[in-house]
Amino acid sequence: MTMSLAPGAWPADRAGATLTIDLAAIAANYRLLGERAAGAVCAPVVKADAYGLGAARVAPVLEAAGARDFFVAHVDEGIALRRYVSPDVRITILHGPRPGAVDDCVRHDLRPVLNSMEQLASWRQAAGRHGRRLAAALQVDSGMSRFGLSPHDVRAIAADRSLLAGIDTDLVISHLACADDPANPASAAQRAQFRHLASMLPRAPLSLAASSGIFLGEGYHFDLVRPGAALYGVAPTAAAPNPLHPVVRLRAHVMQIRDIAPGDGVGYGLTYRAAAPRRIATIATGYADGFARQGASRGCAWLDDIRLPVVGRISMDSLALDISDVPDSRLSPDMTVDLIGPRRGVDAVAEAAGTIGYEILTALGHRYHRDYIAA
Ligand SMILES: *Cc1c(COP(=O)(O)O)cnc(C)c1O
Repeated sequence: MTMSLAPGAWPADRAGATLTIDLAAIAANYRLLGERAAGAVCAPVVKADAYGLGAARVAPVLEAAGARDFFVAHVDEGIALRRYVSPDVRITILHGPRPGAVDDCVRHDLRPVLNSMEQLASWRQAAGRHGRRLAAALQVDSGMSRFGLSPHDVRAIAADRSLLAGIDTDLVISHLACADDPANPASAAQRAQFRHLASMLPRAPLSLAASSGIFLGEGYHFDLVRPGAALYGVAPTAAAPNPLHPVVRLRAHVMQIRDIAPGDGVGYGLTYRAAAPRRIATIATGYADGFARQGASRGCAWLDDIRLPVVGRISMDSLALDISDVPDSRLSPDMTVDLIGPRRGVDAVAEAAGTIGYEILTALGHRYHRDYIAA
């Protein structure tokens, strides 16, 4: 039964839409980010299945492009990633292990980020139990109040180095809250606090910047940068042109076309009513495919250079477009339209839906046929 197919395994003709993922563009973005942060190690973040694009396909391409250090969020993601990269690739777990997964980290050679005194203690105990020193990254909270050792914790470690017994601290990280807005003074304040906290810990390479932080300039690069979204084409800086290559294109099939008269309604609740004769196309993608119901009224698709507004509510498996502007000569059975494409990239789709490109990518459903363009 097709329902049991692995994600991405849907044959093109059986799916409602095709998601094209350009692995060559991901490799080019990796090189571009590496050049922007020349001098620092460029360590890709492939959490959430490479932001929804498929870590099994994306990670080997990044490794071939030169990546030797990868980040994921969870232990399970790290165990899965081990299968897709060479044994000498270093995999770091941003969330660190929960207590029951400490030995899994050791067994699968996953380096944890230790975010709390509790995680530090359990990693110290694991080193004792396994009878060898264990590498770890330490995260300090430089002002985002999300993850990391507090200034109080850092002072405690500075005063008592036995808290790090058996642990090789080979990276110290923190994370910026406002890096997508270069004018925001919070980034410089976080950087100063990061330097201050790191100076109390064992000397180790430092890492502060994710995608947006790379574009704040050299002063934010330190020894290692951790881009995620920018690899996948999301704009790193809200108000500036996007220097990255687009990675995804989503083409959905037109299932039906009908002409409606003034006063006719479309979709659940009949929230749209035609003011004039309109031609409506029903396409095979809906909110179960990651197209949120909110923002539908501002959504659109494109047929080459013709804008096709979404009309009415988005259904689970379909949505309706006003295609009245399309000449008859350009209509064909089973034709496709772009939901994400050259005319409307991930960031523009996100803006119409009132969200960010990250959420659009990670919400992309698993019913699409996935077509990977080789690197
Ligand atoms: C997700 C994450 C990243 C990557 O962030 P992007 O904005 O996608 O580049 C880097 N560091 C940490 C700690 C993260 O949680």
